[in-house]
Amino acid sequence: MSARPLMFFGTTNLDLCFNVERLPTPGESLMGTLARNPGGKGANQAVAAARLGLRPTFYTRLGDDDAGRLLLQSLRDAGVCADAIEICAGEVSGSALVMVGDDGSNMIVIDPGANLNVTPDMIESAARFIDREAIVVAEMGMPIPALNRLFEMKSDRGFKLIFNPAPVRPGLSAAAWRSVDFVTPNQAEAFELTGVEVEDFESAAGVAAKLLDLGPRAALITLGAQGAYYADATSSFALRAFPVKVVDTTAAGDAFNGAFAASLAQGLPLREAVRKALAVAALCVTRRGAQSAMPTVQAVDEFLK
Ligand code: ADP
Repeated sequence: MSARPLMFFGTTNLDLCFNVERLPTPGESLMGTLARNPGGKGANQAVAAARLGLRPTFYTRLGDDDAGRLLLQSLRDAGVCADAIEICAGEVSGSALVMVGDDGSNMIVIDPGANLNVTPDMIESAARFIDREAIVVAEMGMPIPALNRLFEMKSDRGFKLIFNPAPVRPGLSAAAWRSVDFVTPNQAEAFELTGVEVEDFESAAGVAAKLLDLGPRAALITLGAQGAYYADATSSFALRAFPVKVVDTTAAGDAFNGAFAASLAQGLPLREAVRKALAVAALCVTRRGAQSAMPTVQAVDEFLK
């Protein structure tokens, strides 16, 4: 069976990652080692899906600069369709300065660059890449008016919409919320959206009900090492995370979202799709990095054997 078309909307950044013994204090200079890693939530999610053998289309905006060229190439190399990507003359690509200490603590500064300039009209134009049968995934790094336009298009176009509300920001319209099929926050995001802490599966049930009150058809909350909790108006279930040796939890949520979308696109039943997303995210946390940590379909099949 051929997969449904899959399209991601979101941010792309070049992460400048300094590994340092400890984080510097103000005014202090330290030595560290630098790695330049492709990142950004939308890009990470699209790459996670591509590693699973799909060819997702990705809408993002890049600057017409060295970082943009590197980011575009790495998306293409991963198997992401770049036809919808805008290269923007006179703008800089998004970048992040990340410092990680030996104890795992970090400091991050982000310059969103071209990611910040997505307008509703640009989304309207990018929508020509959305098939009626498509599964569309959006995270919250794009400007809110652009997200509102994308979500409000759903009633006419009939695609399925997965919304990863990260980072949480105000301003999504009531109509936009009602067009969401699956909202997929982590614990912190679920708290920001509802004001109630998600500590375990029991509290997740109450928070999921509050999320459904916002308008989406289903809520799928990720609870880190505990797993994930799903609820819609008539059913709910919880699945435990796969126990693994954690090396780096960067992009675990992106792995989960990319894999969940890919699995639905491949026609897996809901529960199986969540299980596969848990497996992909578990493999992701056993490796360092973001996109470099996304497992291949072979690695996931082997893991689930
Ligand atoms: P985010 O990365 O957005 O903060 P979570 O921390 O909830 O999101 O992690 C997303 C998913 O990654 C979890 O639902 C789980 O499947 C997987 N995951 C995260 N941490 C671990 C862990 N320590 N062991 C196994 N799986 C994990």
